[in-house]
Amino acid sequence: SDTRLRQSLEQLDGQSYKAYKSLRGSYEFSDFSLTIDYVQGDPFAAPSRIRLQLPQSVAGFPSDWLSVPIRQTALADYLSRRAAQLARSIQQKRGSGKSGKILVPELSQAVLRRTVAWVDAAAVELRLAVGLPARGRRIAGYGAAALMCEDIPELVAGCLKYAALDAAALERQIAVVEDAAVLRSQLSDHNLIAFIADQAILPRRSGVDSRPLTAEVVPFRSSEALRVRLPAPHAGPVTGLGIPAGVTLIVGGGYHGKSTLLRAIEQGIYNAIPGDGREQVVTHPAAVKIRAEDGRSVAGVNISPFINDLPQDRSTADFSTPNASGSTSQAASIVEALEAGAQVLLIDEDTAATNFMIRDRKMQALIAKEKEPITPFIDKVRQLYDDHGISTILVMGGSGDYFDVADTVIAMDNYQPREVTAQAQAIAQSHQNIRQSEGGAQFGPISQRVILPQSIEQGNRPTKVKVRDTDNLALGYEAIDLRAVEQVIEPGQVRAIAQAMLYARQYYLDGRRSLAEVLDGVMADIERGSLDALSDRLGLDLVEFRRLELAAAFNRLRTLQAAP
Ligand code: ADP
Ligand code: MG
Repeated sequence: SDTRLRQSLEQLDGQSYKAYKSLRGSYEFSDFSLTIDYVQGDPFAAPSRIRLQLPQSVAGFPSDWLSVPIRQTALADYLSRRAAQLARSIQQKRGSGKSGKILVPELSQAVLRRTVAWVDAAAVELRLAVGLPARGRRIAGYGAAALMCEDIPELVAGCLKYAALDAAALERQIAVVEDAAVLRSQLSDHNLIAFIADQAILPRRSGVDSRPLTAEVVPFRSSEALRVRLPAPHAGPVTGLGIPAGVTLIVGGGYHGKSTLLRAIEQGIYNAIPGDGREQVVTHPAAVKIRAEDGRSVAGVNISPFINDLPQDRSTADFSTPNASGSTSQAASIVEALEAGAQVLLIDEDTAATNFMIRDRKMQALIAKEKEPITPFIDKVRQLYDDHGISTILVMGGSGDYFDVADTVIAMDNYQPREVTAQAQAIAQSHQNIRQSEGGAQFGPISQRVILPQSIEQGNRPTKVKVRDTDNLALGYEAIDLRAVEQVIEPGQVRAIAQAMLYARQYYLDGRRSLAEVLDGVMADIERGSLDALSDRLGLDLVEFRRLELAAAFNRLRTLQAAP
């Protein structure tokens, strides 16, 4: 009981820090249980991990929120945010330094399934990291007792019980998330790949602050021609801009909001928290941002739809390099995304390789096709849709050549969209025969590679995983650069992807399965057994991720070995 824990902690006071290890196990408090899963070895090591559980008879959440997965996720997300808030204020009150800290992971603006909090019909659970208090290298037992037996119960009372929460805010969170999911689920019925609601706030405060811009912001307003009206269960009918399947160009002058719109579409794969501004911006769940990434490694990718006849006769049907150029990296990223199941490609001229995107008439006249290994994206983007049903949304303010291949052209003007497809097509008509199409008859098949077991070296000891932010991942000795994988937005996703890469070994061990099959296996296991399926260690903060980002991490592993 909590008195047992308090007594143990007070008795440990002054002893060597290692003696904390004896605390592992479960303790029954008056109305919740506390489990100490992991105890840190010294005051400066990774913090200790605890789990707090309340039965619903105590927590008291309305039962109709507890059986529908999307509501469970929305509710758990709310509790995690509330816990983070409370942990901060409890900490401030104590003014304690590093030891005695309650740590809740930093969350993005997205509502995601995470191991940090979980609700179901029977119980609610919160998992926290705590720094067990020390004086030098000795146990500060009374401080630990205050942390575990006063601060933690205060946290539980303030965030795991329905009665203590702001019921209206909670209801709003669930409504907003449910609406977004319903809006997204309607996209395909209307042959749309993205929807941006009127009044949405797209710009962010800064490049490093993803909260909504507040000062002098222009709310989004759809143009008549592309306006659609979709029903949402809580908000009622929502009007906004629908982006149809096919090839869509976003054009417009510099600084008129093109990239901001595309970024909102990128994030529309996730449901946003209330107040984000993009709550009703929803995108096809298999939309992938593609960018150039020179210097990345590539392992056995068939980039021949885009690149052929490289110098030194290097094969492009089975292309590998430790150091890709801008254009080859972009070609590889596209083929890899398709291999992993992408249905929509999102490309911004700001982060694309120019020579991959365009090859204009004058350049065609100077450099013969036979001397240019690259077939530019402009000559492949239609085939992607016509042959494979893969749509593209492209921000392109710098070249009108794409007018010839676009189904829809949207011009951004002072942060507002205008549909200009007819004008763009008229311009394309009146400037015909200017450039030669170089794309051949077909896109070609989308190849599937087999992942070889030596891709990740695993010794007798478990492979060490290190994650600090969303940009980098260390798996044993291998660093994986994720800066170009822009739809990874929380460190917990990176942590989960790392665990998934190790977990996936069972599926590629026989050296026969395609990457897509490996992804299928891992994702199905998570679906069946939650993120906890990925690791024996309960203490990891894991956050849901898509198969597309798991594939992207595999593809950036420099030791990846693939057979065609
Ligand atoms: P582009 O890609 O067309 O050059 P950006 O999307 O990068 O333009 O936007 C330029 C600037 O305008 C950015 O600082 C962005 O935050 C801001 N911005 C974008 N949309 C809006 C808006 N609706 N209201 C106010 N500012 C905006
Ligand atoms: Mg831009």
